[in-house]
Amino acid sequence: MITRSPALLQRHDEAEPLAPPPAWQAQLAGAIRDPAELCRRLGLDAAWRPGAEAGHALFEVRVPEAFLSRMRPGDPHDPLLRQVLPLGEETLPAPGFVADPLEEAAHTPARGLIHKYAGRVLLIASPACAVNCRYCFRRHFPYGDNAPSRAQWESSLDHLRHDPTIIEAILSGGDPLAASDRQLAWLVERLDAIPHLRRLRIHTRLPVVIPDRIDGGLLDWLGKTRLQKVIVLHINHAQEIDDAVIDACARLKTAGATLLNQSVLLRGVNDSVDALAALSERLFEAGVLPYYLHVLDPVAGAAHFDVPDDQARELVAGLREVLPGFLVPRLVREIPGEGSKTPL
Ligand code: SF4
Repeated sequence: MITRSPALLQRHDEAEPLAPPPAWQAQLAGAIRDPAELCRRLGLDAAWRPGAEAGHALFEVRVPEAFLSRMRPGDPHDPLLRQVLPLGEETLPAPGFVADPLEEAAHTPARGLIHKYAGRVLLIASPACAVNCRYCFRRHFPYGDNAPSRAQWESSLDHLRHDPTIIEAILSGGDPLAASDRQLAWLVERLDAIPHLRRLRIHTRLPVVIPDRIDGGLLDWLGKTRLQKVIVLHINHAQEIDDAVIDACARLKTAGATLLNQSVLLRGVNDSVDALAALSERLFEAGVLPYYLHVLDPVAGAAHFDVPDDQARELVAGLREVLPGFLVPRLVREIPGEGSKTPL
């Protein structure tokens, strides 16, 4: 079973003085991690249990209460539940669907660091996620080998210091905001001191699944850095954006962050013009620009989410008819070895 334990994150925090954990950490620790519990809490028919157990055995369930609270009880087709409920289909092999669809293992010059695009380097700032999305292209990633430590971050920082062509550091994961503010402040302070770095980009789903993550501790280190800040959220459906998420986005903006969103086109979640248009409109209400709409990366266990390319193009054409251009995300695919995302 793939696990992404928040306990891993605390490894190099062991010497930190004991203090009450922030509220978000308690919510992270209290996330539902039992498929039977997930089914029970949402009032699903018992027939969903065996599939949920089988999928969970491959990639564990993780659903925070704040995300669960936005799902419709008794509806197995709820678009938020679909993203996190393991299904028996995940155990079926599908041609072309593989463990490492983006071949990231081949672009890892130092543990915890991925350098595959010119000018940008991606740091695995945390191996854990607040939510485990069933379609995740990193669901098989060897996070245990890439769990961060101060020594590893020093090595990654050296890579950045010695390559003046790198102007943007991207914090990814897992979810980088699953790391503690103390760890992130330490890391960002050092990134700040690398003169050729201009931008800090953070790819995160935490402000969406646990909006309380955007607290004073986070805004403190984020607001201090001289680097331009871009936060790329990951939201797939308008129903994910409640008032708490809108407030979290507003707080991020007070720290000077530009907010973008990337979605994944998912069968049974957002594969209609209405759903995608509602998402773009709701994102804009939250002060977030739709940026990318990714077609599914062919990761083993996620074939049931796949939407054919022709249908994807038709959906985006439909979006252009009902939305202003700035609310139409770019439809892209990530192809291993390509220097940037490939438009469809
Ligand atoms: S939050 Fe992102 S990295 Fe984590 S499981 Fe979901 S898609 Fe994957």
